Amino acid sequence: MTALNSHFERALKAVESPLNFACRNHGEHLDRVKGLEQSLGRSLVAARQAAGTSSLEARVAGLEQLVPAENSSREDRVRQLQRLLEGVRALLKGESPPGVEVAPKEVVPRAPAGAVSKKSTPKKPPAKKMSAVSRSVASGSTSPVLELDQSIQFIKGVGPKVAQRFATRGITTVEDLIRFLPRRYEDRRGGDIANLEEGVHATVEGEIRAKSFRAFRGKRTLDMTIDDGTGQLTLKWFRVPGQAFGDQFQRRCWVRVSGAVTRFRKQFQMVHPEIRSLEGRSDVDNVTDAMVPVYLDVDGMAPTQVRSVLSKALRSVDRMQEVLPERLCDERQLVSLAEAIASLHLPPPGTSLDALLARSTPWHRRLIYEELFVLQLVVQRRRLRGDTHDGLPIPLKEPLAEQAQSMFGFPLTGAQSRVLGEIGEDLGSTMPMHRLLQGDVGSGKTAVAMAAAAGCAMAGFQAAVMAPTELLAEQHARVASDTLSPLGIRVVVLTGALSAAARREALAQIETGVAQVVVGTHAVIQESVQFHALALGIVDEQHRFGVMQRARFVEQGRESTGKAPHILVMTATPIPRTLALTVYGDLDLSIIDELPPGRTPIKTVLYKDTLREQVYGRVRDAVREGRQAYVVLPLVEESDKEGMDAIRDATTTAEELSGGWLHGVAVGLLHGRMAGDEKDEVMRAFAEGGVQVLVATTVIEVGIDVPNATVMVVEHAERFGLSQLHQLRGRVGRGAHRSECLLVSKHTPSEDAWRRLSIMEQTTDGFKIAEEDLAIRGPGDFVGTRQSGLPALLLANLVRDQEILLQARDDAIDVLGRDSDLEAPEHFGLRKLLEKGWDNRLELAQIG
Ligand code: ADP
Ligand code: MG
Repeated sequence: MTALNSHFERALKAVESPLNFACRNHGEHLDRVKGLEQSLGRSLVAARQAAGTSSLEARVAGLEQLVPAENSSREDRVRQLQRLLEGVRALLKGESPPGVEVAPKEVVPRAPAGAVSKKSTPKKPPAKKMSAVSRSVASGSTSPVLELDQSIQFIKGVGPKVAQRFATRGITTVEDLIRFLPRRYEDRRGGDIANLEEGVHATVEGEIRAKSFRAFRGKRTLDMTIDDGTGQLTLKWFRVPGQAFGDQFQRRCWVRVSGAVTRFRKQFQMVHPEIRSLEGRSDVDNVTDAMVPVYLDVDGMAPTQVRSVLSKALRSVDRMQEVLPERLCDERQLVSLAEAIASLHLPPPGTSLDALLARSTPWHRRLIYEELFVLQLVVQRRRLRGDTHDGLPIPLKEPLAEQAQSMFGFPLTGAQSRVLGEIGEDLGSTMPMHRLLQGDVGSGKTAVAMAAAAGCAMAGFQAAVMAPTELLAEQHARVASDTLSPLGIRVVVLTGALSAAARREALAQIETGVAQVVVGTHAVIQESVQFHALALGIVDEQHRFGVMQRARFVEQGRESTGKAPHILVMTATPIPRTLALTVYGDLDLSIIDELPPGRTPIKTVLYKDTLREQVYGRVRDAVREGRQAYVVLPLVEESDKEGMDAIRDATTTAEELSGGWLHGVAVGLLHGRMAGDEKDEVMRAFAEGGVQVLVATTVIEVGIDVPNATVMVVEHAERFGLSQLHQLRGRVGRGAHRSECLLVSKHTPSEDAWRRLSIMEQTTDGFKIAEEDLAIRGPGDFVGTRQSGLPALLLANLVRDQEILLQARDDAIDVLGRDSDLEAPEHFGLRKLLEKGWDNRLELAQIG
């Protein structure tokens, strides 16, 4: 045995001497040592840090497990402490401590700082690998290792009260607890103040001893002195960041500061350091520990207690079932589930904080991969189930694009023709079409839909077009009768607004097949609607509808023809590729990436709200030139919610404008709380030019087409998502006239909101905007995700993790290709997981 290094030896002695004292004569002095376990824990961590070799580190980690739990009986305490003492002595003598498993020599795959790429991950069969952490947590204690499905009450130190607190976070079993991953980490490796060096960037902690405001060259400055027991450090602020800042940090508070160390008259100081208050010294139990995991608050529990319970639960981590087939783990160089989870709870020494926070460690990668892989399995399985070959092939009379030539007063764009080619091919096949047609606002999706419907009708079948609002349904119906009637195709409208008699008539025509194309709202998919031979269902503006609506179309088709109908879903929301691959991964994708010619680009300008008068000056000018304008507001009425009273509601804005800046202009009002016919009346008046400026809430967001409207004003633009603003902007620029979009927002130079909005000035590319939106807001509130029936992602980020997503997708397709029903033994875990979690949702979501 080589001699121990002196730091390590000293650190071990710091454990030994209080133990020696406490354990003498069967714990005679036990009660005289206050906070024994806590200080032992601290000293052991320090010893582990000083160990120098990974095998010693592992042995100390084993000893840490012997520190008795808080509520152990006195007898247990003495016994455990005795064993700990023996272990420490053995280690000091260079023997292996009794009862503590000795780690094999090489071991410890150190967390390579920022090791993300496949290359830097060690290439070993992952299932057998274990970090020092999981090894240490898995060994070295007497109490039996708990089963994952056991209640956390079986964990030492967890009584009914603590269990109840965890339950508020949905944690009841050992596995729940193990899967409760840290939200972030804190680097607590602060040094001693006494060891600071001039010119370096350092982090230290200390108690505020003095605090004073002074005047310096006419400005207020703030000085603080902190003390950590080893020395004192002066903190200086030449510009005080507000009174509240000074008040936040009171004398006797513990703070953590980071900054460049300078020297002023022999005293170390930091100028404008980063400063954060600590919960008090008590929480800084691991000052010398590497990275402290920070969890979501658990009702009424101290962070130290949460960490302590968790570290005990982690002894069961090796029982975690792998769901990923071993072959995949090897191929993608993924660490084991147990290692990933254990390491995220207790990052081994040397782990880069940046990598942890960026979720780029190999452990994160493993969990993110699993999340995305399972998601892709669900999606790809849906897709496979759709490939049923029980579709109804539609014998088209001529290619759709050719048919369209005679339908419209304009030639199709290249993109429209290409997409019609793709759709035409699908319609002729026995495989039912499930296609998502994506095209920016104004790209001409309606024309594509009408051409497809025409082809279907000419071949003797029925087509149905469903729009999300009455307004849109009517607009589509107008286009349909303009373009389809000349071909001899009979169009019927079905909305909630029909009188009972008109409705009865429409239903009869649909049932007998007199109606060849049905245009309507969700009234189209109601129970009472029986088709004669529905072969094509078109859903416009998908994000207002969920999978259920698609499923209902399929049902109606089957009822009428005995075969699955073709489904075309249209959306103007430019969905980023990654999201399309997940949320709509079961649909084929067609994209119209070209606007009809002759459109003048829309100019977008961001205005401070103090310049509103200029904005409405622009509106007045446009009206004088015979054009029209929209003014969009985020809310209908002043809400009584705190802080919302600054929001001008549509009603008062409309009144204010017509009595003020827009005096003499015909101002109309449109909002969601108006009755349906009232709304239609206003909208029609606007379309016909009777209303010159339409003040509205976002009800106008979807699909309205008034080519003479050239100005779009959005008030409180900062309250909208970028994609939503893009949709709104798409309401103008539809005719030959120059259009502008004026975004009005509060302006504070530092505000992210302003920077975010300026993206709108820079680009009109909906895809770029959608990517930005996804990056900023995450997929959570992205249109369509909620109705998708897919599980929420915990760690994965669809923007950041694109590469992993694509791998996971390939792998999922590959696995299903080999074993579509997941019956092979190595896929057992996966199958169980899918059955357990998502089958219900899968059933709902599979059709369409
Ligand atoms: P979307 O539904 O994709 O937002 P629309 O189908 O409503 O777009 O089309 C927007 C406008 O462009 C309509 O007025 C439509 O008549 C016109 N349009 C569509 N395709 C063409 C084309 N190829 N050439 C010229 N105008 C077109
Ligand atoms: Mg449209």
